[in-house]
Amino acid sequence: MINIFVIYTGGTIGMINDPETGALMPFNFDQITENVPELKRLNYKLTVHSFDPLIDSSNMDPEIWIGLADLIESNYEKYDGFVVLHGSDTMSFTASVLSFMLENLSKPVVFTGSQLPINQIRTDAKENLITALEIAAATTGGKAIVPEVCIYFDYQLYRGNRTFKYNSSNFNAFRSPNYPLLAKAGVYLKFDTKNIRQLSGSKLKVHKKLDSNIGILKVYPGIGQQVVKSALAADCKAIIMETFGSGNTSTKTWFLDLLQDAINRDIIIVDISQCKVGSVELGRYETSKKLKDMGVISGYDMTFEAAVTKLMFLLASNLPVEEIKVLIESNLRGELTS
Ligand code: ASP
Repeated sequence: MINIFVIYTGGTIGMINDPETGALMPFNFDQITENVPELKRLNYKLTVHSFDPLIDSSNMDPEIWIGLADLIESNYEKYDGFVVLHGSDTMSFTASVLSFMLENLSKPVVFTGSQLPINQIRTDAKENLITALEIAAATTGGKAIVPEVCIYFDYQLYRGNRTFKYNSSNFNAFRSPNYPLLAKAGVYLKFDTKNIRQLSGSKLKVHKKLDSNIGILKVYPGIGQQVVKSALAADCKAIIMETFGSGNTSTKTWFLDLLQDAINRDIIIVDISQCKVGSVELGRYETSKKLKDMGVISGYDMTFEAAVTKLMFLLASNLPVEEIKVLIESNLRGELTS
């Protein structure tokens, strides 16, 4: 029998309304099983680990991510696949960080959740949960079909580190504009195997250190010198700079001088675009040529979620800054196209 480990972290899927305030808050796993009698008809052995306390995913943090990676590592040999029930708000961050922490993954880690609680009549939770379990259990020739950290939501299976939450009111909460779907669920569950990462054959290696010393500089026309100065003066090891179009910024001397000064202080500046589709191409326009010359690093087509978590993972590695810069621009877990 197929053995699946379900990790219930919280999120809307299992929430109920607080009788006093009316606000949605997490409830225990029985709430889920009671509402999905179909689970008994699946021929899988499910083992459930519930977080205590259950959390709304807005309270997710690196310490919890390390605990999650640890939990998967200590149960890795016993189970065929993992399903993580998680709030959708930060699901893309958690899926992204786990893709970096779980090196040489050979089993599925499928994230899912829902936009409506499982006890509501029009809920999207049942389909999401049942199909996520089927994906975690799917094998061919004795091997997992999707040995990746992925997100299943609203009939679509995505590579986790390519997603972001796009919609807070419709069931199709996620988008992955720079990478195609891994599978689509209709009458059949159709895997697109050419988009799924192949196994390396090496043993799982779990990285359990993260460094969140990261700053953000989102540029906009008219951004002031003081604003840029304080963003770059923060005591950070790396700054994610969210730029225009294919990685462009103002070419005003004061702006470029402030960036150069930060780079001289060994702060890594990673350029990702405010556009959701397409890639940073440093040097394509005059407005990014100077960035490239001074040593700004390209985030290519990485999502903000992937960039933040990849930096947390790499900054904790204790590698020299120059090596970290090379790794940021490299494709480590299918998170970027360079
Ligand atoms: N606020 C909820 C959470 O992220 C939303 C959800 O579950 O979709 O935990």
